[in-house]
Amino acid sequence: MPPRHHRLPITTAYDQRYWCHPCELTHLDRDTDLDAITWTCKRCGHPVLVDLDDFKGNAITVERVSARAIRRDDYVILEHNLQLCLVLKSEKSGAGRWYLALQGHRGAPVDANRYYNRIPR
Ligand SMILES: [Zn+2]
Repeated sequence: MPPRHHRLPITTAYDQRYWCHPCELTHLDRDTDLDAITWTCKRCGHPVLVDLDDFKGNAITVERVSARAIRRDDYVILEHNLQLCLVLKSEKSGAGRWYLALQGHRGAPVDANRYYNRIPR
């Protein structure tokens, strides 16, 4: 597995707020309160919730999980345009790779550790 810092980071351009439901904390600081590689709360280890807003009508709350944690019938929010997509297929695709098929998009193998915005189940 490549070093963690070699991963292409997910964009944070639309991030408005980070919060943790189990800890009942509503304004986490990205630099001190959460792990910005795994997008989990440093206190409890639970995925943090991220309020996204592009101020063009797309506002939604997501959690950030790696491709390997995504399941069929999940919904993901594309990081660059906040488009909602149903996951049609999600399965292992060789060493360190993951195959994701999103509705309306061509399926492609991705790094299994690549992070996606997912609608909490
Ligand atoms: Zn927490």
